[in-house]
Amino acid sequence: MIIPDGYEIKGKFGSRGYRRGAFIFIGALITFVLFRVFVNMTDLVEFLRKVNSPSMLTILGIGLLLFAYMHTFVHEKIHQLCYRRFGSKTNLQMRSLMPNVTLSIGDGCIRNKAIIVALSPLVVLEIAGLVACPFVTGGFLLLIIFFLSENVGLAIQDLALSVWLRKYPRSYYFGFDGKDSVIWGPQR
Ligand SMILES: [Zn+2]
Repeated sequence: MIIPDGYEIKGKFGSRGYRRGAFIFIGALITFVLFRVFVNMTDLVEFLRKVNSPSMLTILGIGLLLFAYMHTFVHEKIHQLCYRRFGSKTNLQMRSLMPNVTLSIGDGCIRNKAIIVALSPLVVLEIAGLVACPFVTGGFLLLIIFFLSENVGLAIQDLALSVWLRKYPRSYYFGFDGKDSVIWGPQR
């Protein structure tokens, strides 16, 4: 959707790349601890006891890191598909080795739709993981809980963006200026 004539930038949501990693880690850690409260982790402890050798744990760690990295691509792909569904053009860029989907410069997405796009990976992947939870045990349960926790971490910036978007009128357009996420509104 092309931003209409007579619109100007009203605000910026700065790209906080260096903070993103910290947000992902803290969000994922808190969620993982919460899962420990709500999910019976006996299976998980049993699984970790079986892999309790340094080489197995290293393989497990590397495997989880690769899995987490792939997850960021799936997350960004959901944003992209959602934008496309709403008729907006997008770009997928790499920022400090992390994939990042933005709107194409000059293209916009109306505020409420931009909020749906922002929250789509959180909602879609969290539901998918929770549905799978009762059917798995041991290592697979560990993987899904890890996935669900990381998914919350990845969505923290999306949640912050949604709150920021809510400050502006619904007739405004969300966009990208080549550096930061921006919001467009009618000139006065
Ligand atoms: Zn996101």
